[in-house]
Amino acid sequence: MTINQSPSDPMGPRTPTPIPLCTPHMAGREWEYLKECLDTNWVSSGGAYVERFEREIAAFVGVSHGVATSSGTAALHLALLVAGVLPDDEVLVSGLSFIAPANAIRYIGAWPVFIDTDPTYGQMDPALVLDFLDNHCLAADQGLINRATGRRIGAILPVHILGHPVDIDPILQAARRHSIPVVEDATESLGASYKDRNVGSLADVACLSFNGNKLITTGGGGLLVTDREDWADRARYLSTQAKDDPIEYIHGDLGYNYRLTNVQAAIGCAQLEQIDSMLTRKRSIYERYAERLASLPGIQIIPEAPWATHACWLSTVLVDESGFGMDSRALLQQLGSAGIQTRPLWQPLHQSSPHASSPHHGGAVADRFWREGLSLPSSVGLTGETQDRVIEALSACCRFS
Ligand SMILES: *Cc1c(COP(=O)(O)O)cnc(C)c1O
Repeated sequence: MTINQSPSDPMGPRTPTPIPLCTPHMAGREWEYLKECLDTNWVSSGGAYVERFEREIAAFVGVSHGVATSSGTAALHLALLVAGVLPDDEVLVSGLSFIAPANAIRYIGAWPVFIDTDPTYGQMDPALVLDFLDNHCLAADQGLINRATGRRIGAILPVHILGHPVDIDPILQAARRHSIPVVEDATESLGASYKDRNVGSLADVACLSFNGNKLITTGGGGLLVTDREDWADRARYLSTQAKDDPIEYIHGDLGYNYRLTNVQAAIGCAQLEQIDSMLTRKRSIYERYAERLASLPGIQIIPEAPWATHACWLSTVLVDESGFGMDSRALLQQLGSAGIQTRPLWQPLHQSSPHASSPHHGGAVADRFWREGLSLPSSVGLTGETQDRVIEALSACCRFS
């Protein structure tokens, strides 16, 4: 069955409307704000929407400074730079993540150390971070050193994946004990909280993304948030080619062109006005999957921790082949042929060829999540009726119900 067949084709069978994984939801003042940018000629990297977006996102997260960037990856690169990560340092990072944070570490010439996943929530395992720092490193004049490689630990980079926070307090305590900065990758979890503190405000600096598939979007873009004024200033400076003089082209450092445009920020401001209703919608999608799939053999939705408020960015299940009668990839194929788009989790980074020469601490749990994980349609615009089509199609694939 093809899903792109025209419904008006008199010869063809009527095919079901495709259900995408996660699409943007433009239901507010996006058009109005965009038009204002074009009408006033404020289309580039300066402008009132950029400042407003920085201020309002920082306020939403609950920190004092925001620096808008051209992508979440650019924000990660800048965050690691302002946190003082140096070439040949090592950065402890979640081993089960989209590849961007590992790449940003390498942009600096530093090395990721991939930390395995906790078996319940799929997030960076704090016990393994502590084990690595306490049992595999030693304190030296220049900082904490990985005994196996001789390299300094420059930062810790927990990635809050899929909308759910990392159990970060033990990590923060260990990092403080060793004076190591902590950078949050909050790109998938804007709107989540950890023990009543907002994700993005938990550590020294945090990074957000406004790519098209994220909770709110600017088309493409990112933001760095921090309470440290000097770090925010430094990030803004580096993001504008490190230009020292308002008139002369004098540059004090090696900088980058990482600024967000006013046009993008205008979309972001309109999106942010809708964030509460989007979060409510994401949560009810997650809860409906959790409730309706609870009794299906071999399917387990990744749960919400008692200490967390899940932002429910992508509702994700683990498919146990022996319990369900089909593995996650066969299920992906089956649902795909019914026009339902699902997505596997990321190849664990310790297996990723661009990062093959980086160290890792564990990885078997991430491997299992990769094998079993499948993210289900989670668009803000998904209706209850359409979601029920997903639930019914998924349930029909189970060999044992
Ligand atoms: C989306 C994402 C990013 C940043 O992505 P950009 O496309 O550069 O905005 C970084 N880390 C994770 C975990 C992500 O999912």
